[in-house]
Amino acid sequence: MSTKEIPYKIYLEESEMPEAWYNVRADMVNKPAPLLDPATLQPITEDALAQVFCRELAKQELDDTTAYIPIPQPVRDFYRMYRPAPLVRAYCLEKELGTPAHIYYKFEGNNTSGSHKLNSAIAQAYYAKEQGLKGVTTETGAGQWGTALSMASAYLGLDCQVYMVKVSYEQKPFRREVMRTYGATVTPSPSMTTEVGRRINGEFPGTNGSLGCAISEAVEAAANQEGYRYVLGSVLNQVLLHQSIIGLETKAALDKYDITPDIIIGCAGGGSNLGGLISPFVGQKLRGEADMRIIAVEPASCPSLTRGKYVYDFCDTGKVCPLQKMYTLGSGFMPSSSHAGGLRYHGMSSVVSQLYHDGLIEATSVEQTGVFAAAVQFAKVEGILPAPESSHAIRVAIDEALKCKQTGEAKNIVFGLTGTGYFDMYAYQRFNDGQMGDYIPTDEEIAASLAKIPKV
Ligand SMILES: *Cc1c(COP(=O)(O)O)cnc(C)c1O
Repeated sequence: MSTKEIPYKIYLEESEMPEAWYNVRADMVNKPAPLLDPATLQPITEDALAQVFCRELAKQELDDTTAYIPIPQPVRDFYRMYRPAPLVRAYCLEKELGTPAHIYYKFEGNNTSGSHKLNSAIAQAYYAKEQGLKGVTTETGAGQWGTALSMASAYLGLDCQVYMVKVSYEQKPFRREVMRTYGATVTPSPSMTTEVGRRINGEFPGTNGSLGCAISEAVEAAANQEGYRYVLGSVLNQVLLHQSIIGLETKAALDKYDITPDIIIGCAGGGSNLGGLISPFVGQKLRGEADMRIIAVEPASCPSLTRGKYVYDFCDTGKVCPLQKMYTLGSGFMPSSSHAGGLRYHGMSSVVSQLYHDGLIEATSVEQTGVFAAAVQFAKVEGILPAPESSHAIRVAIDEALKCKQTGEAKNIVFGLTGTGYFDMYAYQRFNDGQMGDYIPTDEEIAASLAKIPKV
C-alpha cells in the first residue's frame, strides 16, 4: 500500500479520461450466449439487429472480440462537461461505523440527469445522429434514463420520445418535467397509443406498468416511424461497454494511490452500472492479474440473480425484442411497486449473468427498509442524498465494513454510487413516516412467472 495520504476526493485530470471503452467480452473465456431473433429463434444477425438499433450500436452489441473501442471525440467532449467523476474516500462514513475498512465510492450523480445513465445516452444519441436518424424512442422506469436521453438528444438535435412506467409518471411529475424541458415527449406506459400497450392494459387492468412493458411500447413506436430507432438504457452489451468508463476511471484513480480493491460492490437492475464498474477488474481476474470479491446487489422484491433461472427469455413483456440468455424471473414478472424503480427489471445483462454463472462475481439481495436505513446513515455523514437504487450498494458496503470491524481487517471496499435521490423524496417520506414495507415475492409467484418462459 502507498504511503501517500489519500485525499477525500481522488480526481483525474480531463486528459486522464479514458480514450476507449473496455469490452470485457473480449477477455471472457465463456462468452455470453448469442442474442436470438424472436422470429426464428436463431442467433440474430447484425442486419436484423440494425432494424431495431442504430447500425454502429448493433455492431457493438455483437462484438465479442475487440477489447478497446475508441470513444468518438464528440462523445469525449460531452463527457468532459461532467467527467471524470470523482472517486471519494468515505472517511466520514468509516468514522461513523468505527471500521478499520477503507471505503471508496465512485459518484456518478454529478449531472442533471442525476445518474450514470448519461454515459450511455450520449453515446447512443451520437451514433443515431451519425446515422442521420430523426429521433429515438425509449422507455424509462424511475426516470433517470429518460432524463439522460432527453439531455443527450437535445444536445445533438434529435427528437426523443419516452415511454415512462406509469407508477413513476404519477409519482415523479418533476422528473417528467425535466424531460419535457429538454424537449422530449413523455407518455405514461402502458398507454393506449401502441398495440402492445392496449393489449397489456386489457390483460392487466389498472396495472402500474413495468420496464418490460414500456420497452415493448418504445420498440413498437420506433418501428412505426421512419427515421427512428429504439435505444435502451441498460441490460445490453453496448450499454455495459459505454458504462465501462466508470470502471476505467475508478481503476485509474485507485492506481494513482496504489490501492488494490478487496471488494467491489454495485447495485444491479439491468446490470449496466455494475457491469461498467467491474469490467476492468473482471478483466484483471480473467487474465489472472488480480483477484477480488465482486458483489452484485439486487432488491429482494426483484431478485433475478439470486432467485431467477439462467435461461433464454424475452427482454420485454411484449416479446418483440431479441431473446437473451440471462438470469430472469420471466418477462411477465410484475415486481411489487418498490421505490427503487431503476432496479425493477425481470432480467439481467447477459455479461453479468455469465460472470455470475461462472463464479467470477457474487450476488445478494436486500430489503428496502434496510436499504433506506443505510441511505439515511450515509446521507447524514457523507453529504450526498443517494438514490434508492444506489443505496442497495451502500447497504452491502456498510455490512461488509461492519464485518471488518469484527475481524479487524482494513479491507479496501469500493462501491458504485450511481446517483442522487432528489426525485425520490416520496420514497424517503414513506421511510421517514415509518410506512415503508418490504415486499418479497413468494416461491409460488416466482415459479408461476418462470413457468411462462419460452422453451428454447
Ligand atoms: C437505472 C439506475 C440503476 C440501475 O440500472 P443498471 O443498469 O443496473 O445500472 C442504478 N442506479 C441508478 C441511480 C439508476 O438510475
